[in-house]
Amino acid sequence: MNKDLRRAIIAGNWKMNKTPSEAAKLIEELKAAMPEPDCEVVVCVPAIDIPAVAEAIKGSDIRLGAQNVHFEASGAFTGEISASMLAEMGVEYVIVGHSERRQYFGETNETVNLRAKAAINAGLTPIICVGETLEQREQGITDDLVSMQTKIAFNGIEKEDAINCVIAYEPVWAIGTGKTATAEQANEVCQLIRDTIGVLYDDETADGISIQYGGSMNAKNCAELLAMEDIDGGLIGGASLKAPDFSVIIEAASK
Ligand code: PEP
Repeated sequence: MNKDLRRAIIAGNWKMNKTPSEAAKLIEELKAAMPEPDCEVVVCVPAIDIPAVAEAIKGSDIRLGAQNVHFEASGAFTGEISASMLAEMGVEYVIVGHSERRQYFGETNETVNLRAKAAINAGLTPIICVGETLEQREQGITDDLVSMQTKIAFNGIEKEDAINCVIAYEPVWAIGTGKTATAEQANEVCQLIRDTIGVLYDDETADGISIQYGGSMNAKNCAELLAMEDIDGGLIGGASLKAPDFSVIIEAASK
């Protein structure tokens, strides 16, 4: 299997932006600007926007994603949302372990693993985020760290489920900073993640799993990044909030 046979997935991470009415408007703009996509297009929206976006994307090629999920099925977890709640609303993807959740909300490699398993059990596709900080890159521990994050995230996940997960390599120093990893830097770590999956499972799983790059991907730099052998798509923050820019990225992934 090679790059052409893997799912190319362009996912927007809207973070804490857009009220429900603004969200519906952005979807309308995106539908008008979007080419016929030859890739999977996902919008990961704030939880409160899910009903409005589920309605707005009806009949389009856009898939619905969430930005977080709790690992328990139900119970006394005030403020949290379970995987089955998301699934019932038409959510298909969920971001797990975004660096902002690791940094501000105490997410650990272990809770990332639990959330990924909860998502899989409810039929959702987790987009599992891994990536190093600038300090870690400068210390020369990027490979060890990203490989460890990947191994723990997939602990206890069966091969049949693993191949359908999505991994997003997001160097923390490139998120929201305007600093993009070079295409070579990004591809190198995506390849390392693929190799790690190969060690955990086998070549078939490594060849089949979709690995995205995320970190200041935009309309200008997307083509070069998406052309790399081990980069199968993008997780896009800022540029996903602008329909024309997001459309250019979708078009680049569709080639
Ligand atoms: C992200 O939030 O996952 C992200 C990559 O953000 P940005 O594209 O704004 O760097």
